[in-house]
Amino acid sequence: MDNKNKAKPSGNIWTRLELWKKILIGMILGVIVGTVMGPDAEILKPIGTLFINAIKMLIVPLVFFSLIVGITSMQDTNKMGRISLKAIILYLGTTAVAITIGLGLAALFTPGAGLNMIANNPDAIGKEAPALVQTLLNMIPQNPVGALAAGNILQIIIFAIGLGVSLALIGEKAEPAIKLFESLAEAMYKLTELVMKLAPYGVFGLMAWVAGKYGLEVLLPLIKVIAVVFLAALLHIAVFYTGMISIVARLNPIRYLKGLSNPAVVAFTTTSSSGTLPATIKASREEMGVSKGVASFVLPLGATINMDGTALYQGVCALFVAQAFNIDLATSDYITIILTATLASVGTAGVPGAGLIMLSLVLTTVGLPIEGLAIVAGIDRILDMARTTVNICGDMMVSILVAKSEGELDMDVYNSKEPAAGAPSVAEVKTA
Ligand code: ASP
Repeated sequence: MDNKNKAKPSGNIWTRLELWKKILIGMILGVIVGTVMGPDAEILKPIGTLFINAIKMLIVPLVFFSLIVGITSMQDTNKMGRISLKAIILYLGTTAVAITIGLGLAALFTPGAGLNMIANNPDAIGKEAPALVQTLLNMIPQNPVGALAAGNILQIIIFAIGLGVSLALIGEKAEPAIKLFESLAEAMYKLTELVMKLAPYGVFGLMAWVAGKYGLEVLLPLIKVIAVVFLAALLHIAVFYTGMISIVARLNPIRYLKGLSNPAVVAFTTTSSSGTLPATIKASREEMGVSKGVASFVLPLGATINMDGTALYQGVCALFVAQAFNIDLATSDYITIILTATLASVGTAGVPGAGLIMLSLVLTTVGLPIEGLAIVAGIDRILDMARTTVNICGDMMVSILVAKSEGELDMDVYNSKEPAAGAPSVAEVKTA
């Protein structure tokens, strides 16, 4: 197909443009059209709603199948069990740190302050939030089919984990089911790709509506949201991940930062952890010396369940929405956000825009207005670039930590490459 395209470029300039460029154009045009049309731009909203509905259609099967496949990809040996446990604990722990950083920076910079937005049904706000204990109890679905039908993501995650682990435990008998889930997961990734083709138009409709309704002033806080998410992402990678590499694994963090550059660029541009997986595995093995066994298990699992960047973004956006709608959050709300975003990020598929869908889950769990989602949707691609990059950097950090602790890290490979020009050599860093 590539060859054909090269021989004879088909379609007009628009159809040949990369998706993210189309989305950016959709967003800019939306803002312009919305500003010109004012409140009349509401007639364009259905285009956005169509897109949001199509995305919502994906969420339940995508989470369910991709999580099961992530879990069944582990092999049932003792070592694998130990490696899984280490990886899962590290994945969840680092995610909770990520969201705390996101919440902290959003509280510090208050990107939503002064927006004074009003929700459609203000009475519902704050009252919907279930108590923390109830949230925890509700995580276990009494009826998994009901959970799937109702789209209760936390319950779906718990059931998928249980089913996945059981499939892994029954060995040969699970093979047909695993094959079926693998092929359904593949199909859902494809469907997601197709739905994402609607994104430029959907974002156009949403941005036109938002800009028309709230005016250009709504954009300034959005720039602030972008700045806060990028700053949090940078801190998480440059301080927390490198800290874990140097303090916990006792390795040169410069090598880690250098080794992740290729997959980071792929993640930044494709905004898909799953799509970046080949690059992540290659870099972990060839640049960092992670063994084949650890890389081929820990990284796909990470691409499915470890989304530090997504959690961090959900923290920032939840606070942004609360600030924009002047809603005060209690301490228990913050804890609920941390818990829900950690679990929601587990259920987020490693595909473009999946985090935005999960944001609706976090917002509803703490009783924040869902309209906030529409505002963030316009800049979601830009935020997705930062969060996907964090997501895969986190996967690689955990794969190195796990490999090191299992004696599965080839130190010669890890230390072999020349550091980038101007960077201190391995020896210098070690003696420092
Ligand atoms: N695009 C992200 C990823 O693939 C998921 C998200 O939307 O947050 O890692």
